[in-house]
Amino acid sequence: MFYKQNKKLVTWFMVALAVGIVLIDGFINNPIARGLTLLLFVLIMIVFFISTINKDMERVSLECDLEKQNQLKSIDLVRAKLETLITYLPFPMVLINQDGEIELSNDSFALLMNESNDQLKSINSKGIPFMIKRVLNDIYLNEESLTTNISLNAMDYQCVSIPIIQSRRYKGSLVVFSDITKLLYQERVQKRFVADASHELKTPITAIKGMIEILTREDFNDEKTEKEFLDQIKHETERLELIVKDLLYLSKLSNQTILLNKQPLDVKAIVSEAIKTLKLKLADKNIRVNIQELDKEPLLADSTSLLTVFSNLIDNVCSYSNASQLDIIIDGNQKNKIITLKDNGIGISAEDITQIFDRFYRVDDDRNRNTGGSGLGLSIVKELIGVHNGNVEVQSVVNEYTQFVITLPKLTKS
Ligand code: ADP
Repeated sequence: MFYKQNKKLVTWFMVALAVGIVLIDGFINNPIARGLTLLLFVLIMIVFFISTINKDMERVSLECDLEKQNQLKSIDLVRAKLETLITYLPFPMVLINQDGEIELSNDSFALLMNESNDQLKSINSKGIPFMIKRVLNDIYLNEESLTTNISLNAMDYQCVSIPIIQSRRYKGSLVVFSDITKLLYQERVQKRFVADASHELKTPITAIKGMIEILTREDFNDEKTEKEFLDQIKHETERLELIVKDLLYLSKLSNQTILLNKQPLDVKAIVSEAIKTLKLKLADKNIRVNIQELDKEPLLADSTSLLTVFSNLIDNVCSYSNASQLDIIIDGNQKNKIITLKDNGIGISAEDITQIFDRFYRVDDDRNRNTGGSGLGLSIVKELIGVHNGNVEVQSVVNEYTQFVITLPKLTKS
């Protein structure tokens, strides 16, 4: 190894040594020659060692330079990678340094700040909204990982900071903003659903409990009230049963545990079946039904689901619309079957129409709670059309009409 690295020197050294030996040989008895030989020998040895040490030092410093260059290269590479990552990731990201300056930010961050990236120099730059400034300052001052939720421009973000530590020193933080608007919305919907369901179930239970308490009083002796209460308890129990049944059905639909048996169906036959079941109710309300079939092509769908959809919609016309006429048009185009149910009843206001498919939503809450169903009918309709990859829309003009338009794809097998 040593010889390989210092080949030249060793060779020179050998030559010098040979010359020395020759000199020593020739003038062995001459003290000057002996002294010269010795001096030459010592000089050669010194040169040899100095050049070896020099060479080693050169090699070490060259290695150091190379290492430094490699380190710089790898830092540049990491930075370039980080820049690419930050630029192309679809959520806002910003890299702040230990002085609170913005080292790097992506377009999504600039968009969120409503500023260009060049304007965003520090965490206290003018364009940064107060809310974000406060979060960035917290991150910068705390120098540790932080997770916080913020609302900005009607959106919710979760802001997560990752501190960058190098040689045990804080060098800055990478701050990532992820859009959690949908997630929070779903959470709120879920919470509202649980609260609404509890309320819906509690109301009849409280009524039943109150009536039973009165009926079981020792001094209670009123036959007329007893009959009234028993009828009321029966009514409330049936309502409870309906709510629980619809809730279970909805939950099965949402969890996709309902098996759909899709077969080619005659839509008019299903609509007629729904009308047949509601014949008495329709007659009772004096509602004329008119069916028009413009597209006769069979539809690949689950018959039980479609029957539930049409029954719910026609039942609603009986219960809420006060209409005298219901027109059902079965139409279609190359892709879809389009079924319209239009009544000439009281209609639904613009304010209510946006919430009509929400669970437990009723237009006239108090009245329809007693006269109507569970408040889940239209949610079930929407879910059932959804699992068929279809769509249901409602249009209405108060005191003129309400129409539900169902669009179902003709070719979906899944
Ligand atoms: P429910 O299951 O209690 O019948 P729905 O979810 O089916 O409730 O309907 C929600 C609300 O929509 C009803 O309370 C009613 O006010 C309104 N509604 C539904 N269909 C009609 C219609 N054809 N005309 C007027 N209002 C309607």
